[in-house]
Amino acid sequence: MDLDYTKSLLNFIDNSPTAYQAVENMRQALNKQGYKRYKINQTTKLQKGDRYYYTKNDSALIAFEIGNKPIEAGFKIFGAHTDSPSLRIKPQAISIKENAICLNTEVYGGPIFSSWFDRPLSLAGRVSVAGESPLNIKTHLIDFRKPILVLPNVAIHMNRNVNTKNEIKANLHLIPIMGMASEIESKANQSKKKDKSFWQNWFYSLIAKELKIEPKDILDFDLFTYDPTPGQIVGVNDDFIVSSRLDNLAMCYAGLKALTSDKKNSNFNGINLLLYTDNEEVGSVTKQGADSSFIRDILESICINLGYSRQDFLAMFDSSYMISADQAHAAHPNYSEYADPDHRPIINSGPVIKVAASQSYATDSSSAAKFIGLCKSADVPYQWFVNRSDLRGGSTIGSITSARLPMSTIDIGNAIWAMHSSRETGGVKDLIYLDRVLKLFFDL
Ligand code: ZN
Repeated sequence: MDLDYTKSLLNFIDNSPTAYQAVENMRQALNKQGYKRYKINQTTKLQKGDRYYYTKNDSALIAFEIGNKPIEAGFKIFGAHTDSPSLRIKPQAISIKENAICLNTEVYGGPIFSSWFDRPLSLAGRVSVAGESPLNIKTHLIDFRKPILVLPNVAIHMNRNVNTKNEIKANLHLIPIMGMASEIESKANQSKKKDKSFWQNWFYSLIAKELKIEPKDILDFDLFTYDPTPGQIVGVNDDFIVSSRLDNLAMCYAGLKALTSDKKNSNFNGINLLLYTDNEEVGSVTKQGADSSFIRDILESICINLGYSRQDFLAMFDSSYMISADQAHAAHPNYSEYADPDHRPIINSGPVIKVAASQSYATDSSSAAKFIGLCKSADVPYQWFVNRSDLRGGSTIGSITSARLPMSTIDIGNAIWAMHSSRETGGVKDLIYLDRVLKLFFDL
């Protein structure tokens, strides 16, 4: 099996510990392919063949390429989210307990808590520093890369229920440890009191050293824990990709690869567009999330900058189509009772169409029919996911986005196990299948 695609995806995920690095890495890849930064009020009019990208809050990204045919054909959108569940570091995080340096966190999204224990962890995100004036700050991306944290379990000898009733309390147990305090204290000025502010300053100096800036310039940060162990290809037939953040960086990468691949057809219809939003794991209602007005603003500005009217823009919703991609649940051999009896996605059996009567997925028969048509044309198998009728299941960006951009929208994904674990397992072949479908989509 050709593993090149999987290896390059693993490289992308390993180097994208948070949404900030993911967007920056995609931005650089787009730059290399001749995409330019887009401004809503830019004076350069858009032309057919132009390629641009736009970022919001360093953590959401829109990239588009304008086809050679009239844009009445509409937008062809591939959507995904850039964020993943994690532990977010609180502003005044450091405390000393049992002489250990403890880092207070809040849960971001819905991680499987147990999967964060007993593994080397690191920190990454974004740091805001002083600029020319109070409202003009600068930001730096930061990734410690080195494992500087660990979240140790308690020994089974002390908690005999650890394998049966092991409740993990976020406020007590999800506090990673950074090292031993005595080591730092012995190096510090002996006369200084080792109080809360001492440790706060120490943490800032750690960040400053990493960024090669002055600690006094640091004003705030968005920092998250992550597992710095690289993802791997696993299985006797190299069947699986086992990695952090498959949900949903594998989908971000799939769209990026397909958009920037060589088009067979330079006369493709409409506008090919990637729509990658942040904060899906916490509901999407943020300025950089799927529920933000920025998405519609950018799409409208593209039409205006192409010389079309607002009416032309509004008319485009009827001809546009969006594939919203987020990972799907594969039926699990050890937990098979959780899957619906008749809809059981299998790893390496093709992309999964997600359907929900509650409309937590945007799929309807007409949007599904279009995707099935794409799969058939690309000679790729497809599968269905529907929640077991007594389970609520998850949600994603499809329905939220399609309420703001009223266009035909489908929710799909590749089948994975252990969604929201710090290590998720997906299928190597499924990546290739989706790549074929998306290349065809952007080529039409
Ligand atoms: Zn997701």
